[in-house]
Amino acid sequence: MSLKTPEEYLESIRELKHEVYLAGERVADPVDHPMIRPSLNAVAKTYELARNPEYEDLMCAWSHLTGRKINRFTNLHQDTGDLVKKVKMLRLLGQKTGSCFQRCVGMDALNALSSVTYEMDQELGTDYYNRFLDFLKMVQEEDLVCDGAMTDPKGDRSLRPSQQGDPDLYLHLVEENRDGIVVRGAKCHQTGAVNSHWVLVMPTMAMKEEDADYAVSFAVPSNAKGLFYLYGRQASDLRKMYDGEIDRGNSKFGGQEALMIFDDVFVPWERVFMCREYKYAGMLVERFAGYHRQSYGGCKVGVGDVLIGATALAAEYNGVIRASHIRDKLIEMVHLNETLYACGLACSTEGTGTASGTYLVNQLLANVTKLNVTRFPYEIARLAEDIAGGLMVTMPSEADLKHEKLGKYVAKYLKGVADVSAECRMRILRLIENLTLGSAAVGYRTESMHGAGSPQAQRVMISRQANLEHKKNLARELAGIEN
Ligand code: SF4
Ligand code: FE
Repeated sequence: MSLKTPEEYLESIRELKHEVYLAGERVADPVDHPMIRPSLNAVAKTYELARNPEYEDLMCAWSHLTGRKINRFTNLHQDTGDLVKKVKMLRLLGQKTGSCFQRCVGMDALNALSSVTYEMDQELGTDYYNRFLDFLKMVQEEDLVCDGAMTDPKGDRSLRPSQQGDPDLYLHLVEENRDGIVVRGAKCHQTGAVNSHWVLVMPTMAMKEEDADYAVSFAVPSNAKGLFYLYGRQASDLRKMYDGEIDRGNSKFGGQEALMIFDDVFVPWERVFMCREYKYAGMLVERFAGYHRQSYGGCKVGVGDVLIGATALAAEYNGVIRASHIRDKLIEMVHLNETLYACGLACSTEGTGTASGTYLVNQLLANVTKLNVTRFPYEIARLAEDIAGGLMVTMPSEADLKHEKLGKYVAKYLKGVADVSAECRMRILRLIENLTLGSAAVGYRTESMHGAGSPQAQRVMISRQANLEHKKNLARELAGIEN
């Protein structure tokens, strides 16, 4: 079986019985919890679209290992065409869910691990790549979701991992024996963690020799003994607990973040992909980050499409769509959104093959993509709020609209143009609220800033890749200055 149905996916997650805590209580069945379910629906969309012939070319690939059809989220990019299709697939899913659909972190971790384990083996004579391929085959055959877990709590940022007062502030090795390793620590803001079958753990930054115990990478089942999850709160998440759907803005889909605790988790050797090879920690971080920065040139653009569409509808419902400043603002939103897409495509078409055969994005352009993502969605959201008007945040509730006495007043006073009902106007304004201020804003705004690394991380990478010497030589030559 290579392509699960959405229903099979949901059942497979239910069977794992993850140890999840939400607001201080253990969640009996996360799959059916109203606050969690929309995030599962978003992941399930990656399964649904893969089985739809209309989207097959974007959503599926042919495994280079088995020749079988697989979900693209489990594919290793074999050429720049694969990198481009990845960006297009993420835009499509952003359009269909209006939220973070979570499965990309695992795809990005698989691709980064493939080339790094290969290069480690070449230099050190280790056997990580074959182990990794065995794992990948299982992921492809069973159509599994992997969580890519990178970010450690980090404690005092001025201290290295081994200098921290509490050694667990970076995930580390606590024991090594004949059968495997034992690890302890935590991973923060883990996208889609509770919706994953496996967790792929990577170091959070480049490591030095004294930090070797922190240079670990491995895969564990997401329900491994000692591994548990503290579900992250999101703005307006309690609205998901109410009946009705209008106040939720996007009642079907949502993102998910969790704090993941590794309380002495055992990992057998066959699932260990890095163990103290500290010189390779930085390479793994950079490659994973490069892929994930590329990802944002797809997913954020798709969600941006939804926000732009919702804003244009709000303008129509208000009767202002023909005003020239409204047209200008909508054009500006499209311009910013398509610039992000252009960056995502550019870093993909300029990608190159690694020694393992897996294709890697152009790192300079991937970092430029993400640095733009730290700014443009904020401007797009600002323009959306400008056009939507204040009603978006002062409007009465769906319960008032449905109320026996109050309903007719809400329908009367919240109406804009004559041929659109107050309910439609409320629905679209709530969607804009959800995307700019509510739970989807986690994925569209703050994650645009900090996801895949904060802006300073991109600046560091851009400065490393900028090759200023080359540019100076160009200028010297034209100015007639001898070197
Ligand atoms: Fe995928 Fe975007 Fe969510 Fe990251 S933020 S997991 S790239 S949808
Ligand atoms: Fe992310």
